[in-house]
Amino acid sequence: MKKYDYLIVGAGLYGACFAREMTDKNKKCLVIDKRNHIAGNAYTKRINNIDIHVYGAHIFHTSDKEVWDYIKKFGEFNSFVNSPMAIYKDEIYNLPFNMNTFSKMWNIKTPQEAKEIIKKQITESAITTPKNLEEQAISMVGKDIYEKLINGYTKKQWNKDPKDLPASIIKRLPVRYTYDNNYFNDLYQGIPINGYTSIIEKMLDGIEVQLDTDFFDNKDKYLNIAEKVVYTGPIDKFFDYSEGELEYRSLKFENIELETDNFQGNAVINYTDSLTPYTRIIEHKFFNNMNQPTTIISKEYPANYNETKEPYYPINDDKNNSIYEKYYKLSKSYPNIIFGGRLAEYKYYDMHHVIRKALDRAKIEK
Ligand code: FAD
Ligand code: UDP
Repeated sequence: MKKYDYLIVGAGLYGACFAREMTDKNKKCLVIDKRNHIAGNAYTKRINNIDIHVYGAHIFHTSDKEVWDYIKKFGEFNSFVNSPMAIYKDEIYNLPFNMNTFSKMWNIKTPQEAKEIIKKQITESAITTPKNLEEQAISMVGKDIYEKLINGYTKKQWNKDPKDLPASIIKRLPVRYTYDNNYFNDLYQGIPINGYTSIIEKMLDGIEVQLDTDFFDNKDKYLNIAEKVVYTGPIDKFFDYSEGELEYRSLKFENIELETDNFQGNAVINYTDSLTPYTRIIEHKFFNNMNQPTTIISKEYPANYNETKEPYYPINDDKNNSIYEKYYKLSKSYPNIIFGGRLAEYKYYDMHHVIRKALDRAKIEK
């Protein structure tokens, strides 16, 4: 008999959700995290009565009713709708790409006019089947928007030419011919009124959690402490890079407290030119409570990844996906280890995807 039924490596959304479900099935779980806090990248910290999204803006959105009902069991959500702005040099546009963007870009008013301009630019580009991010973007919104709002931002974010990136990345963004600035097409959206940390704290209620605890500091011990292990860190690291290193993109956040009650008038503003070194500035107070006398902003700088940095994004191009497939095959020979979440599955998951995967996995566990 091992001491625990499950050792869960990572107190992020996947780990916390899985631990909750198995604990409710009377299984004994231990959750460890190498960071000094729970909640993974969704972590929020309250400073001056403002919930700071420490690892970048996190907006919960989903069309999955079960996931929406599930997360709301752990805390109330507000009705925040993400409507970022994009600054390109001295111009400012609404995102995602919609009639507000098109009318400002081309001084037009009707969907018909916008469709004609975009269609003409697509025809001129002669792209039939988009093979990469650049071709996909141009075939969604034409050349003008690509040049002003996508090209520079994408090069900074990924440090790659958009021709060398997968089309799937830009397909995340809606294109619509209505005056609607909602960044997501999902049925449900919001931000937890008391922050994500409070949500995950409640998920982990009654479950043993050890922080500042790195699985790799004592891998053998942790592999033997429980009947099964759930691992939510980078999959290549788990296997000591035996199939090659996966690429990740990292970030650096610069947080600034300002003696003004309103710095930029919106929660998220993207800087889409290639010269500004950061991709976006977030003003945290606008995610929920807006009445504080001062404000805190974070500039988000893309950064190259190395082992001393956080692997924030998988880079799902063909090369990395084929390396991942090798790890996936390898993982199948370890039936007592569950690989779950954004890093262990090497997928560009949002929070709702991760909860769905954890719930599904917990359902099939005995
Ligand atoms: P993580 O949150 O990364 O948790 C994994 C945990 O495992 C971490 O706490 C880590 O410290 C721990 N760990 C790793 N290795 C070890 C080890 N060796 N030992 C112990 N612990 C270890 N999603 C949305 O839905 N909406 C958004 O607006 C949104 N914005 C985002 C913005 C940014 C900048 C980023 C980076 C992500 C964003 N996401 C957003 C995605 C969201 O963060 C993820 O989908 C979600 O947090 C993934 O949860 P997870 O549990 O898989 O991983
Ligand atoms: N993107 C862009 N311009 C923008 C916003 C996004 O070109 O103003 C592209 C960019 O390639 C980015 C991708 O769309 O990586 C996905 O954007 P999203 O906002 O979903 O990224 P995330 O919030 O996950 O960083």
